[in-house]
Amino acid sequence: METWQEVLRKNSISSLEALAVKFGPEHFPELDRLRQAADNFEFRISPAMVDLIKAPDDPMWRQYVPSVEELDVVDGMVDSLNEDADSPVPNITHRYPDRALFLVSPVCATYCRFCTRRRKVGDPEKIPMSQFESAFRYLEEHTEIRDVILSGGDPLLLNDRRLDAILTRLRAIPHLQIIRIGSRIPCHLPERITPELCATLRKFHPLFINTHFNHPDELTPAAVHGLGMLADAGIPLGCQTVLLKGVNDDPAVMKELMQRLLMARVRPYYIYMADQVAGAEHFRTTVQAGIRIMEALRGWTSGLANPHFVIDTPGGGGKIPLLPEYVISMNDDEVILRNFRGEHYVYRQPHEPAEVLAIKKPKRPARARRKTA
Ligand SMILES: *Cc1c(COP(=O)(O)O)cnc(C)c1O
Repeated sequence: METWQEVLRKNSISSLEALAVKFGPEHFPELDRLRQAADNFEFRISPAMVDLIKAPDDPMWRQYVPSVEELDVVDGMVDSLNEDADSPVPNITHRYPDRALFLVSPVCATYCRFCTRRRKVGDPEKIPMSQFESAFRYLEEHTEIRDVILSGGDPLLLNDRRLDAILTRLRAIPHLQIIRIGSRIPCHLPERITPELCATLRKFHPLFINTHFNHPDELTPAAVHGLGMLADAGIPLGCQTVLLKGVNDDPAVMKELMQRLLMARVRPYYIYMADQVAGAEHFRTTVQAGIRIMEALRGWTSGLANPHFVIDTPGGGGKIPLLPEYVISMNDDEVILRNFRGEHYVYRQPHEPAEVLAIKKPKRPARARRKTA
């Protein structure tokens, strides 16, 4: 049997020529401009994703095949989340009080054309593996960090030995309560999920994996099998989906994705607005489109199928949750609410202690009157 490394090396598509052979040269009329797009950001489509591309501009094609639209920059930014400003040492982004992001791998099995971290990903030089020592020391010294998120690139493209070494070093840090891994491997390269990988990961609990699926078709039997193996290793699985134009900006598609994730034992965690990244602006939708999707989930399907909808704000403000408006009005007496069907309901506020006193006061003279009567 081929190893996952062989699968990736031999059967991926990573040149425009190979794409043209596979899908027909007529679909690539502007080859010179397309080459510019492919040169700007690493290009590779893993075998599992090649198999899912059925027609030009379908949801898989849009996510993974380079497009000349990548060359149009309107208000996209290179580092839209301002991660580099919050990076105290190489490979660490420390933005929130008690958790930090640790970039451990510069490479991915398949490169998403909407990648937020395209400035760092694809080129092994950009996430220097030799500079982990300062990151480990930072995590050791910052005792307020209780949650570390391994990201990249894709951490699960590291080999088992390397992963084991990183996780062992992290687990030796007493204040790190939980370890998380962000990975698209269950979607892009399910061959990577081996019994050996599961045996490695399960030594480091509590360990969580947030994976990333954007379309129900990505939940292939191989992906579902891999997710099951990770779940059987006791790893709680979440999913971080990105709202993408022409991929999943449709309430029915998103609902099916959320339901299919649950069937694969994955709890949807976030739906992100597409970031304002230079080169990926053709994937953006309006915020209203996202809110309409959330309205189509809440109440209409399992609460478990309802992730948080967030904007990771440009400029480094972090993730901010968005909800459809369910509160019609709110004052100290009552809250008027709208349910998922649009019907209105009233919740009466509890009385504040001061109000309780105010109600009791007039009763005293009444009792006094009874006494004197
Ligand atoms: C998303 C993110 C986290 C994790 O946020 P959670 O809401 O806890 O999942 C941590 N650090 C950075 C820089 C992030 O972007």
